[in-house]
Amino acid sequence: MKIVVCVKQTPSTTAVFSVNGGKVSWDDPGGKPLVVNPWDEYAVEAAIQLQEEHGGDAIALSMGTEESLEALKTCLAMGCTEAILVNDGAFRDADTLGTARVLAAAIEKMGDVQIAFFGKQAIDGDTGNTPVQVAVKLGWTPLTFVSAIKEIDAGGGTITVERQVSGGKETVTAPLPVVISVVKEINEPRYPSFMGIRKANRATIPSWTAADIGLDASAAASRVDWSRVYPLPARDASVEMISGDSPQEIAKKLVDRLFEEKVL
Ligand SMILES: Cc1cc2nc3c(=O)[nH]c(=O)nc-3n(C[C@H](O)[C@H](O)[C@H](O)COP(=O)(O)OP(=O)(O)OC[C@H]3O[C@@H](n4cnc5c(N)ncnc54)[C@H](O)[C@@H]3O)c2cc1C
Repeated sequence: MKIVVCVKQTPSTTAVFSVNGGKVSWDDPGGKPLVVNPWDEYAVEAAIQLQEEHGGDAIALSMGTEESLEALKTCLAMGCTEAILVNDGAFRDADTLGTARVLAAAIEKMGDVQIAFFGKQAIDGDTGNTPVQVAVKLGWTPLTFVSAIKEIDAGGGTITVERQVSGGKETVTAPLPVVISVVKEINEPRYPSFMGIRKANRATIPSWTAADIGLDASAAASRVDWSRVYPLPARDASVEMISGDSPQEIAKKLVDRLFEEKVL
């Protein structure tokens, strides 16, 4: 079985952001400013588990700069069998549609892929758009918010999954190939093993350009301008303790204050 897992490198969840002159920068007290998007760790684990069960390949795919090689090495250290970076200056500020075009073209170039895994969303762009846009580009069925893979009928060419929907779960069967975005209930991501880390550090990760995946450089041109990023205005909040001889007296004083402050 050929399985792909799309991973984005993002600022770490403990990163401290600062905005100067419209430019966002961040640093991480823990010394690891860039990480595998936390939601993608569940997708990587799901891909590896299926590869262990059905054989074949679990290929980690990322669109990003050279820096993203670190994220791909983490996927190899966890157990992915291969990793590919799609890196081209033309993709720098891609919006989600641009990102989806690039990832779909890379998946088509690999050929014979049955499942493409994604995280639920990226913690920086946070749109959650990309998996479904990739499915549309490939003409595949998108199965989103998947919390369990129930069955893969390789002979019949179908997959049955459990999806999280509002207020419950549903079981869905779809023809392969499919795009699957996963939620954190699907598994417990493993830690990279020592041997895995050593293998990852020795690995050569191919880097594909727009031309390598048959895309015109303009394919990822952004239609969305989020370049004007500015810090939220600081709010001067203060705390006032209200005292009284009884809870009723304190409540009365509080209501009076809320009226004074025109909150009520
Ligand atoms: C602060 C900020 C705001 C942004 N606002 C917008 C916006 O409003 N509209 C817009 O179109 N774009 C926006 N972007 C750009 C957007 O982040 C990129 O296009 C990004 O590549 C995909 O969108 P996302 O980050 O929302 O990812 P999501 O769509 O939330 O990601 C879902 C899943 O797709 C996969 N994935 C996403 N990006 C990649 C990648 N580069 N390589 C491999 N797999 C990937 C991962 O599995 C991920 O879990 C913004 C970026 C930033 C940093």
